Amino acid sequence: LDPEEFRRQAHLVVDFLADYYSSIENYPVCSQVQPGYLTKTMPKSPPMQPESIETILQDVQKHIIPGITHWQSPGFFGYFQSNGSTGNFLGEMLLTGFNTVGFNWLASPAATELEMVVMEWILKLLQLPKSFSFSSNGGGVIHGSTCESFVCTLIAAREKKLSQIGTQGDLTQGRLVVYCSDQTHFSLQKACKVVGINPSNIRVVSTTKSTNFELSPHALLMTIKSDVKAGLIPLYLCLTIGTTPTTAVDPLGTLCDVAKQFNMWVHVDAAYAGSACICPEFRHFLDGVEGASSFSFNPHKWFLTSLDCCCLWVKDSNDLTNALSTDPELLKNKQSESKQVVDYKDWQIALSRRFRAMKLWMVIRSYGVSGLQEHIRKHVKLAKDFEALLRTNSKFEVMVPRNFAMVCFRVSPSALATLANESSNEKVNRLNEQLLEALNGTGRVFMTHTVIEGVYVIRVAIGATLTDDKHISMLWDIVQEHANTLLAKYEC
Ligand code: PLP
Repeated sequence: LDPEEFRRQAHLVVDFLADYYSSIENYPVCSQVQPGYLTKTMPKSPPMQPESIETILQDVQKHIIPGITHWQSPGFFGYFQSNGSTGNFLGEMLLTGFNTVGFNWLASPAATELEMVVMEWILKLLQLPKSFSFSSNGGGVIHGSTCESFVCTLIAAREKKLSQIGTQGDLTQGRLVVYCSDQTHFSLQKACKVVGINPSNIRVVSTTKSTNFELSPHALLMTIKSDVKAGLIPLYLCLTIGTTPTTAVDPLGTLCDVAKQFNMWVHVDAAYAGSACICPEFRHFLDGVEGASSFSFNPHKWFLTSLDCCCLWVKDSNDLTNALSTDPELLKNKQSESKQVVDYKDWQIALSRRFRAMKLWMVIRSYGVSGLQEHIRKHVKLAKDFEALLRTNSKFEVMVPRNFAMVCFRVSPSALATLANESSNEKVNRLNEQLLEALNGTGRVFMTHTVIEGVYVIRVAIGATLTDDKHISMLWDIVQEHANTLLAKYEC
């Protein structure tokens, strides 16, 4: 690693990326390549000799960029966004530059302590209860993903429960039950598999449109009671603030009260919407979080921070470390033995870990709380604007209440004059599916869909860093244009 050559090449890469961002709107938002496009083009063996950065960047432009779906494009409205930002990008450069592997305090004291500092900052920002703080028995850790946080909290809950009730091996573990709603992110199912929860012991409680897709405390209580009657053991309840299909918000307070009756672990997943709760006007969505055992959100969605970054707080850090600690001779050191330091390897699955706090710290310092709040509010305003536009045209229906910056809509059945039989729902679904395909086919926008109660719905997740008023106007224009074209076809 020659520092001067590093300087020269890194400048070229920064220039390349600056040019990419300047021209990002020239690329189709969703990649248009066909499966196998790259494997067919790339050499079958790696190069024997070093190649220049100039040659490599030419290939990135020619071969890689066509196969990229441009998540940073202002026309990206798919899934939930993953925000890029200058502060984050520079933080990533620094953390990659230092390339530490801070599994315990000694392996990089700054990596551990900066993570603790940043997690306490965000705890304050979100007004999380003191019980989640290092100053009580709790504390925060940065994981790579929510799925990882699910796995770690499930294991912590499992070990705690087994130690409370005494283990009879598989017999007891096989009776542990996990609860969630049909809105809960599907990665909880994967986490349950990893942790060895009996697949028949995952209770997915149904939600309905009439109750805004919130998990009902009564339905939960009835489900738990029936399990207890059958000799099963309630273990873990996953609640969501801002569900993936519809951004529904579970009522934390009453649901935590139900879980408390059964001594269950409650995890609150605010992967997407947690970022919004730094604004006082959205904080009420977290009311009741004090009843939870753990809470997580993904700065890598809506907090100007790139993958991978999921912040997890637990009320009792011993629950995590009792379940996940290892103490090999190789890593023994005075500081760890003094118990005065945090060894984050015991708060996560892997041993090694990136210095993720560096990018989060850079983001918070670069934009300040006011800048981060402004970022959230801008997208919420754009979502409100788009929703208002949809409501001006009776051909469209807004399908769920908009809590944050995602709008779910469809072409309304009433826009199709010829609809008059029992297959009408299928017909409207097909029309909306074709509308989404046509919109994404323009290359100017990219959106995804969900199906709620059998109804096909287009999700518009507004949150890309570069999205502005003019992109919402453009979106509205092409939505109307393509809907009109399709409706005319259907009416022929
Ligand atoms: N939970 C919610 C509510 C989500 O929206 C998502 C992803 O979109 C996840 C969990 C999964 O997050 P991750 O990819 O960090 O595991």
